[in-house]
Amino acid sequence: MGILEVKNVGKRFGGLQALGDVNLSVAENTVHAIIGPNGAGKSTLLNVLVGKLIPDTGSVMFDGKSVLGRKPYEICQMGISRVFQTPEIFGDLSVMENMLIPCFAKRDGAFTANGFMNLFKDREMVERAESVLEDMNMIDKRHMHAASMSRGDKRRLEIGMCLSQEPRLLLLDEPTAGMARADTNNTIDLLKQIKEDRDITIAIIEHDMHVVFSLAERITVLAQGTPLVEDTPDKIKGHPKVREAYLGE
Ligand code: ADP
Ligand code: MG
Repeated sequence: MGILEVKNVGKRFGGLQALGDVNLSVAENTVHAIIGPNGAGKSTLLNVLVGKLIPDTGSVMFDGKSVLGRKPYEICQMGISRVFQTPEIFGDLSVMENMLIPCFAKRDGAFTANGFMNLFKDREMVERAESVLEDMNMIDKRHMHAASMSRGDKRRLEIGMCLSQEPRLLLLDEPTAGMARADTNNTIDLLKQIKEDRDITIAIIEHDMHVVFSLAERITVLAQGTPLVEDTPDKIKGHPKVREAYLGE
């Protein structure tokens, strides 16, 4: 049994079957990549996992409990955090403020004016956020205006914001999209380090095969809303169906 078990999940948008019959098992403490061409349904699947979309069919179990029908904050409280495909930080706030907001959102189910007034008053949260920033070599930037950071640091901050929620499962949707090579390599190193330092499972949607093959222990290939194959990176590399459907060979 994996920490995440997706069974027979289907999702239709009007006439379009975005997810056909998705089965996916993610083993605890592994890095599992989900790859596939544009429009394959990867982001839709992620949205189902975090409660942003309710599938038409199937089940999603996290740590033996059903995720379906729960609100996004409840799923977050269960231990799932997600990094978006486009950076979602609060540009007008400081790095530290950005780190604290997800802690409040997880605890209270929402971020309220009251939360904002008390942002720095919860010692335990402040310490947790500081310790994540230290782990990420960003503690020097804690007072920095988030909007003035480099693109690479913004993405780093986003990952930090998720880690401040202490997730057991971290979901990433194309974390290196649009990045220069150096930032991509930094992100690979960061994710490797996160994996080494914590009890965490990572599911990553990624287009860049260099990233996938640097990190993933297992890979699921999604095409037209249905998994084609799931296997180890070595097997995936040589798989004729994958070469044909995904690598375009
Ligand atoms: P991927 O992330 O693999 O590129 P998506 O999950 O974003 O693919 O999209 C899968 C398919 O579903 C695409 O054809 C996309 O246009 C469609 N789709 C995604 N979200 C919606 C939506 N909210 N409404 C209608 N169609 C959608
Ligand atoms: Mg996508």
